[in-house]
Amino acid sequence: AHPAMPRPIQATIHARALQHNLERVRESAPDARVWAVVKANAYGHGIERVFDALRGADGFAFIDLAEGQRLRALGWRGPLLLLEGVFEPRDLELCSRLNIWHAVHCDAQIDWLGQHKTHAPHRVFLKMNSGMNRLGFPPERYRAAWARLDALPQVDEISLMTHFSDADTARGIAHQLAVFTEATRDLPGERSVCNSAAILRHGHEDGARLDWVRAGVMLYGASPDHPGHSASDWRLQPAMTLSSRILGVQQLRAGDTVGYGSRFTADAAMRIGIVACGYADGYPRHCGTGTPVLVDGVRTRTLGRVSMDMLCVDLTPVPQAGIGSAVTLWGRAANGQWLSIDEVAQAGGTIGYELMCALAQRVPVVVD
Ligand code: PLP
Repeated sequence: AHPAMPRPIQATIHARALQHNLERVRESAPDARVWAVVKANAYGHGIERVFDALRGADGFAFIDLAEGQRLRALGWRGPLLLLEGVFEPRDLELCSRLNIWHAVHCDAQIDWLGQHKTHAPHRVFLKMNSGMNRLGFPPERYRAAWARLDALPQVDEISLMTHFSDADTARGIAHQLAVFTEATRDLPGERSVCNSAAILRHGHEDGARLDWVRAGVMLYGASPDHPGHSASDWRLQPAMTLSSRILGVQQLRAGDTVGYGSRFTADAAMRIGIVACGYADGYPRHCGTGTPVLVDGVRTRTLGRVSMDMLCVDLTPVPQAGIGSAVTLWGRAANGQWLSIDEVAQAGGTIGYELMCALAQRVPVVVD
């Protein structure tokens, strides 16, 4: 007997798109070194799957120390950065052993470093809270933190970083950049401030790019400021396609309803397709009626509620479609049409970031 066939749903990671998007980071920040941000398992794409395509980056940045171990296991010898620093003092041991640079955002992390018997001196990225009010030292305490680190024999190099709250909005980065610039004026060390939105929207501004940029979502081909700009406006290519097939067809009469809660009612006769993709695959349940989807590369819409393993689509624009027809939930269809993850996310009231990160474990993934 042959093994059970998997469900027809599949995610495809496009190595060439990743390379192209990395090139776009280089074009947008030509003087900066590039951290490829691969936290959350490379935004759901898989660190091992994106590594080859992104090895042209200058370093990799992440949140989970185990992701750094995986990158070393893949043979990466270059810079690695733990973006939130260590959560426990004992993780400093791995940082020194694997030469992982780490953020320092609070006094407790400095205390831990001071007590750490290190193999090798640490390189740290001292984080400023310049207005986001998430992590970091406030500007008025930044120098004191820098001086504490500078006095530690465990630390041999201090770089300076901050993170913008509004690189993707009309508020912009000017205020935070001014705070950061002023408070670091005569401190030595490399500087890093830009995420994707800042690279694309503000990279041309004097001093914005600095020594290192931290590119996340743009590498994966989603727009950091959709719907203001789409991924294609930014000339990014989607690095993930989520595809499946139609496993059932229903012919509706006027007045028939679709799915749980009967949330869609047909106002005339129509054909609908039932797709092997549901919220247990990572497709958002909030993407009810009207979310764009491609069937045989033709744009149509979802109907009714998304269920755990299935969703329903309108076959009116694709009368030839039937059981086995190809469905693109986001990404690229065989005919070259594509549907941006940002558009699907918007229909579900969220952002492309969340959809890519939420791809479910049960979905088989291939790299092309
Ligand atoms: N830098 C830091 C400190 C981050 O937390 C993140 C992600 O949120 C990034 C850079 C990358 O952001 P983006 O994916 O918007 O490029």
